[in-house]
Amino acid sequence: MSTFSQKVVWITGASSGIGEAFALELASHGAKLVLSARRAEELTRVANLTKLPASDVLVLPLDMTDIDSLPGHVKTVQQRFGRIDYVFQNAGISQRSDVADTNFEVYRRIMEVNFFGVIALTKAVLPLMLAQGSGHFIVTSSVAGKLGTKQRSGYCASKHALHGFFDSLRAETYDKGIRVTIVCPGYIRTPLSFSALNSEGKLHGRMDDNIDKGMLPNVFAQKLRQAVESEREEVYIGGTETYGIYLKRFLPGLISRIVRNRKPE
Ligand code: NDP
Repeated sequence: MSTFSQKVVWITGASSGIGEAFALELASHGAKLVLSARRAEELTRVANLTKLPASDVLVLPLDMTDIDSLPGHVKTVQQRFGRIDYVFQNAGISQRSDVADTNFEVYRRIMEVNFFGVIALTKAVLPLMLAQGSGHFIVTSSVAGKLGTKQRSGYCASKHALHGFFDSLRAETYDKGIRVTIVCPGYIRTPLSFSALNSEGKLHGRMDDNIDKGMLPNVFAQKLRQAVESEREEVYIGGTETYGIYLKRFLPGLISRIVRNRKPE
Protein backbone atom coordinates (compact mmCIF):
# COMPACT_ATOMS: atom_id res chain seq x y z
CA MET A 1 0.00 0.00 0.00
CA SER A 2 1.23 3.49 -0.84
CA THR A 3 2.35 5.89 1.91
CA PHE A 4 -0.23 8.32 0.50
CA SER A 5 -3.20 5.96 0.44
CA GLN A 6 -6.24 7.79 1.93
CA LYS A 7 -3.96 10.61 3.12
CA VAL A 8 -5.22 14.21 2.81
CA VAL A 9 -2.77 16.27 0.75
CA TRP A 10 -3.27 20.01 0.25
CA ILE A 11 -1.39 21.40 -2.76
CA THR A 12 -0.95 25.12 -3.44
CA GLY A 13 -0.03 26.18 -6.95
CA ALA A 14 -2.07 23.18 -8.11
CA SER A 15 -3.46 24.93 -11.20
CA SER A 16 -0.36 24.28 -13.35
CA GLY A 17 3.21 23.06 -13.59
CA ILE A 18 4.76 21.28 -10.63
CA GLY A 19 1.64 21.46 -8.44
CA GLU A 20 -0.54 19.97 -11.16
CA ALA A 21 1.95 17.15 -11.79
CA PHE A 22 2.22 16.37 -8.08
CA ALA A 23 -1.57 16.26 -7.82
CA LEU A 24 -1.75 13.68 -10.62
CA GLU A 25 1.12 11.68 -9.13
CA LEU A 26 -0.47 11.51 -5.68
CA ALA A 27 -3.94 10.80 -7.03
CA SER A 28 -2.47 7.70 -8.65
CA HIS A 29 -1.10 6.74 -5.21
CA GLY A 30 -4.47 6.89 -3.49
CA ALA A 31 -4.34 10.33 -1.85
CA LYS A 32 -7.29 12.62 -1.22
CA LEU A 33 -6.51 16.05 -2.61
CA VAL A 34 -7.18 19.69 -1.86
CA LEU A 35 -6.25 21.79 -4.90
CA SER A 36 -5.51 25.48 -4.38
CA ALA A 37 -4.38 28.44 -6.49
CA ARG A 38 -6.21 31.55 -7.73
CA ARG A 39 -7.70 30.23 -11.01
CA ALA A 40 -10.73 28.09 -10.11
CA GLU A 41 -11.32 26.88 -13.67
CA GLU A 42 -7.76 25.54 -13.95
CA LEU A 43 -8.10 23.80 -10.59
CA THR A 44 -11.29 22.14 -11.82
CA ARG A 45 -9.45 21.02 -14.96
CA VAL A 46 -6.74 19.42 -12.79
CA ALA A 47 -9.36 17.85 -10.49
CA ASN A 48 -10.96 16.23 -13.56
CA LEU A 49 -7.58 14.96 -14.77
CA THR A 50 -6.98 13.21 -11.43
CA LYS A 51 -10.06 11.02 -12.09
CA LEU A 52 -10.67 10.96 -8.33
CA PRO A 53 -14.29 10.63 -7.17
CA ALA A 54 -15.77 14.01 -6.16
CA SER A 55 -15.68 12.89 -2.51
CA ASP A 56 -11.86 12.65 -2.64
CA VAL A 57 -10.97 15.98 -4.19
CA LEU A 58 -11.72 19.52 -3.06
CA VAL A 59 -11.15 22.49 -5.36
CA LEU A 60 -10.33 25.37 -3.02
CA PRO A 61 -9.39 28.59 -4.84
CA LEU A 62 -7.34 31.01 -2.77
CA ASP A 63 -4.83 33.83 -3.06
CA MET A 64 -1.68 33.31 -0.98
CA THR A 65 -1.42 37.08 -0.48
CA ASP A 66 -4.87 37.22 1.18
CA ILE A 67 -3.38 36.16 4.48
CA ASP A 68 -6.50 36.85 6.57
CA SER A 69 -8.48 34.37 4.48
CA LEU A 70 -6.14 31.41 5.11
CA PRO A 71 -7.41 30.24 8.55
CA GLY A 72 -10.93 30.06 7.05
CA HIS A 73 -9.64 27.85 4.24
CA VAL A 74 -8.02 25.53 6.80
CA LYS A 75 -11.43 25.19 8.52
CA THR A 76 -13.02 24.33 5.17
CA VAL A 77 -10.51 21.52 4.59
CA GLN A 78 -10.89 20.25 8.16
CA GLN A 79 -14.67 20.21 7.85
CA ARG A 80 -14.48 18.32 4.58
CA PHE A 81 -11.79 15.72 5.39
CA GLY A 82 -11.37 15.86 9.18
CA ARG A 83 -7.58 16.07 8.99
CA ILE A 84 -4.64 17.36 6.94
CA ASP A 85 -1.68 15.01 6.47
CA TYR A 86 0.48 16.89 3.95
CA VAL A 87 0.64 20.50 2.82
CA PHE A 88 2.62 21.08 -0.37
CA GLN A 89 3.57 24.77 -0.16
CA ASN A 90 4.33 25.22 -3.82
CA ALA A 91 2.60 28.38 -5.14
CA GLY A 92 5.13 30.92 -6.30
CA ILE A 93 6.15 33.61 -8.76
CA SER A 94 9.53 34.45 -10.24
CA GLN A 95 11.35 37.60 -11.35
CA ARG A 96 13.27 38.93 -14.36
CA SER A 97 14.89 42.26 -13.44
CA ASP A 98 18.15 43.80 -12.18
CA VAL A 99 18.28 45.23 -8.65
CA ALA A 100 19.11 48.70 -9.99
CA ASP A 101 15.89 48.88 -12.03
CA THR A 102 13.42 47.03 -9.82
CA ASN A 103 10.57 48.90 -8.14
CA PHE A 104 10.40 48.24 -4.42
CA GLU A 105 6.80 47.03 -4.81
CA VAL A 106 8.07 44.10 -6.90
CA TYR A 107 10.09 42.89 -3.91
CA ARG A 108 7.06 43.21 -1.66
CA ARG A 109 4.87 41.28 -4.10
CA ILE A 110 7.36 38.42 -4.46
CA MET A 111 7.82 38.14 -0.70
CA GLU A 112 4.04 38.25 -0.13
CA VAL A 113 3.42 35.28 -2.45
CA ASN A 114 6.59 33.21 -1.96
CA PHE A 115 7.26 33.82 1.73
CA PHE A 116 4.64 35.59 3.88
CA GLY A 117 1.75 33.66 2.34
CA VAL A 118 3.62 30.42 2.97
CA ILE A 119 4.30 31.31 6.61
CA ALA A 120 0.69 32.35 7.13
CA LEU A 121 -0.68 29.10 5.71
CA THR A 122 1.82 27.09 7.77
CA LYS A 123 0.77 28.85 10.96
CA ALA A 124 -2.89 28.31 10.11
CA VAL A 125 -2.41 24.55 9.56
CA LEU A 126 0.09 23.86 12.34
CA PRO A 127 -2.34 23.73 15.32
CA LEU A 128 -4.32 20.98 13.60
CA MET A 129 -1.17 18.99 12.80
CA LEU A 130 0.08 19.37 16.37
CA ALA A 131 -3.30 18.15 17.67
CA GLN A 132 -3.08 15.18 15.27
CA GLY A 133 0.48 14.47 16.42
CA SER A 134 1.48 14.23 12.76
CA GLY A 135 1.77 16.26 9.58
CA HIS A 136 4.25 16.90 6.80
CA PHE A 137 5.09 20.20 5.11
CA ILE A 138 6.58 19.92 1.64
CA VAL A 139 8.04 23.24 0.51
CA THR A 140 9.09 24.28 -2.98
CA SER A 141 12.26 26.32 -2.79
CA SER A 142 14.65 26.36 -5.78
CA VAL A 143 18.32 26.09 -6.69
CA ALA A 144 17.84 29.87 -6.37
CA GLY A 145 17.07 29.20 -2.69
CA LYS A 146 20.68 28.13 -2.21
CA LEU A 147 22.58 30.63 -4.39
CA GLY A 148 21.93 34.08 -5.85
CA THR A 149 21.76 34.63 -9.61
CA LYS A 150 21.30 37.62 -11.92
CA GLN A 151 17.86 39.20 -12.30
CA ARG A 152 16.37 37.07 -9.50
CA SER A 153 17.33 39.13 -6.41
CA GLY A 154 13.84 39.16 -4.88
CA TYR A 155 13.06 35.61 -5.97
CA CYS A 156 16.34 34.26 -4.56
CA ALA A 157 15.78 36.17 -1.31
CA SER A 158 12.26 34.76 -0.93
CA LYS A 159 13.43 31.19 -1.53
CA HIS A 160 16.47 31.54 0.80
CA ALA A 161 14.09 32.82 3.49
CA LEU A 162 12.00 29.64 3.24
CA HIS A 163 15.03 27.54 4.25
CA GLY A 164 15.57 29.54 7.43
CA PHE A 165 11.91 29.41 8.41
CA PHE A 166 11.34 25.72 7.71
CA ASP A 167 14.66 24.55 9.20
CA SER A 168 13.57 26.29 12.42
CA LEU A 169 10.08 24.82 12.26
CA ARG A 170 11.52 21.33 11.70
CA ALA A 171 13.75 21.65 14.74
CA GLU A 172 10.87 22.89 16.91
CA THR A 173 8.29 20.30 15.90
CA TYR A 174 10.16 17.12 14.91
CA ASP A 175 9.50 15.51 18.29
CA LYS A 176 5.81 16.37 17.92
CA GLY A 177 5.52 14.30 14.76
CA ILE A 178 5.83 17.11 12.20
CA ARG A 179 8.06 16.56 9.18
CA VAL A 180 9.45 19.10 6.69
CA THR A 181 10.78 18.32 3.22
CA ILE A 182 12.25 21.25 1.28
CA VAL A 183 12.66 20.62 -2.43
CA CYS A 184 15.00 22.68 -4.61
CA PRO A 185 13.99 22.18 -8.24
CA GLY A 186 16.40 22.95 -11.04
CA TYR A 187 14.89 23.81 -14.42
CA ILE A 188 11.45 22.20 -14.72
CA ARG A 189 9.36 22.67 -17.85
CA THR A 190 6.44 24.75 -16.54
CA PRO A 191 4.92 28.17 -17.40
CA LEU A 192 6.78 29.79 -14.44
CA SER A 193 8.63 32.38 -16.56
CA PHE A 194 5.34 33.68 -18.04
CA SER A 195 4.17 34.96 -14.66
CA ALA A 196 7.62 36.23 -13.57
CA LEU A 197 7.62 39.94 -12.70
CA ASN A 198 9.75 42.49 -14.53
CA SER A 199 11.21 45.65 -12.98
CA GLU A 200 7.81 47.37 -13.03
CA GLY A 201 5.85 44.39 -11.74
CA LYS A 202 4.49 43.51 -15.18
CA LEU A 203 4.47 39.92 -16.45
CA HIS A 204 7.59 38.68 -18.25
CA GLY A 205 5.13 36.82 -20.47
CA ARG A 206 7.35 34.36 -22.29
CA MET A 207 8.97 30.95 -21.96
CA ASP A 208 12.65 30.95 -21.02
CA ASP A 209 14.96 28.60 -22.91
CA ASN A 210 16.41 26.89 -19.84
CA ILE A 211 12.99 26.12 -18.43
CA ASP A 212 11.76 24.99 -21.83
CA LYS A 213 14.61 22.47 -21.94
CA GLY A 214 14.04 21.45 -18.32
CA MET A 215 12.86 18.26 -16.67
CA LEU A 216 9.27 17.25 -17.36
CA PRO A 217 6.97 17.99 -14.41
CA ASN A 218 5.68 14.40 -14.20
CA VAL A 219 9.26 13.09 -13.85
CA PHE A 220 9.89 15.72 -11.17
CA ALA A 221 6.69 14.73 -9.36
CA GLN A 222 7.69 11.05 -9.20
CA LYS A 223 11.08 11.92 -7.72
CA LEU A 224 9.51 14.29 -5.22
CA ARG A 225 6.99 11.66 -4.14
CA GLN A 226 9.83 9.23 -3.45
CA ALA A 227 11.74 11.88 -1.48
CA VAL A 228 8.69 12.66 0.65
CA GLU A 229 8.06 8.96 1.28
CA SER A 230 11.64 8.70 2.56
CA GLU A 231 11.09 11.79 4.74
CA ARG A 232 14.09 13.51 3.13
CA GLU A 233 14.70 16.88 4.79
CA GLU A 234 16.10 18.56 1.69
CA VAL A 235 16.22 17.30 -1.88
CA TYR A 236 17.53 18.69 -5.18
CA ILE A 237 15.67 17.62 -8.33
CA GLY A 238 16.58 18.68 -11.85
CA GLY A 239 19.51 18.50 -14.27
CA THR A 240 23.16 19.50 -13.95
CA GLU A 241 22.11 22.98 -12.75
CA THR A 242 21.46 21.42 -9.33
CA TYR A 243 25.24 20.81 -9.02
CA GLY A 244 25.46 24.56 -8.40
CA ILE A 245 24.22 23.87 -4.88
CA TYR A 246 27.22 21.65 -4.15
CA LEU A 247 29.60 24.17 -5.74
CA LYS A 248 28.17 26.89 -3.51
CA ARG A 249 28.84 24.71 -0.46
CA PHE A 250 32.27 23.36 -1.37
CA LEU A 251 33.70 25.78 -3.98
CA PRO A 252 31.90 29.09 -3.38
CA GLY A 253 34.46 31.18 -5.30
CA LEU A 254 34.01 29.03 -8.41
CA ILE A 255 30.20 29.23 -8.46
CA SER A 256 30.41 32.98 -7.86
CA ARG A 257 32.58 33.33 -10.99
CA ILE A 258 30.32 31.06 -13.05
CA VAL A 259 27.20 33.00 -12.03
CA ARG A 260 28.66 36.44 -12.68
CA ASN A 261 29.98 35.42 -16.12
CA ARG A 262 26.64 33.96 -17.24
CA LYS A 263 24.26 36.04 -19.30
CA PRO A 264 20.88 36.42 -17.55
CA GLU A 265 17.92 34.90 -19.33
P1 NDP B 1 3.69 27.63 -12.51
O1 NDP B 1 3.65 29.05 -12.93
O2 NDP B 1 3.17 26.58 -13.40
O3 NDP B 1 2.99 27.46 -11.11
C1 NDP B 1 2.88 28.49 -10.16
C2 NDP B 1 1.63 28.22 -9.36
O4 NDP B 1 1.51 29.19 -8.32
C3 NDP B 1 0.37 28.32 -10.21
O5 NDP B 1 -0.47 27.24 -9.90
C4 NDP B 1 -0.25 29.64 -9.77
O6 NDP B 1 -1.64 29.54 -9.90
C5 NDP B 1 0.19 29.70 -8.31
N1 NDP B 1 0.17 31.04 -7.76
C6 NDP B 1 0.87 32.12 -8.18
N2 NDP B 1 0.54 33.20 -7.45
C7 NDP B 1 -0.37 32.79 -6.53
C8 NDP B 1 -1.10 33.44 -5.50
N3 NDP B 1 -0.96 34.76 -5.24
N4 NDP B 1 -1.95 32.71 -4.75
C9 NDP B 1 -2.13 31.38 -5.00
N5 NDP B 1 -1.48 30.72 -5.97
C10 NDP B 1 -0.62 31.41 -6.73
O7 NDP B 1 5.23 27.33 -12.21
P2 NDP B 1 5.91 26.10 -11.43
O8 NDP B 1 5.04 24.94 -11.37
O9 NDP B 1 7.25 25.98 -12.00
O10 NDP B 1 6.08 26.74 -9.98
C11 NDP B 1 5.80 26.05 -8.78
C12 NDP B 1 6.88 26.35 -7.78
O11 NDP B 1 8.11 25.82 -8.26
C13 NDP B 1 7.12 27.84 -7.55
O12 NDP B 1 7.25 28.07 -6.16
C14 NDP B 1 8.43 28.10 -8.25
O13 NDP B 1 9.15 29.15 -7.66
C15 NDP B 1 9.14 26.77 -8.05
N6 NDP B 1 10.25 26.49 -8.94
C16 NDP B 1 10.05 26.24 -10.28
C17 NDP B 1 11.12 25.99 -11.10
C18 NDP B 1 10.96 25.74 -12.56
O14 NDP B 1 11.99 25.64 -13.28
N7 NDP B 1 9.77 25.60 -13.08
C19 NDP B 1 12.50 25.98 -10.58
C20 NDP B 1 12.59 26.22 -9.17
C21 NDP B 1 11.51 26.46 -8.39
P3 NDP B 1 -2.68 30.76 -10.19
O15 NDP B 1 -2.06 31.62 -11.25
O16 NDP B 1 -3.91 30.02 -10.64
O17 NDP B 1 -2.86 31.44 -8.89
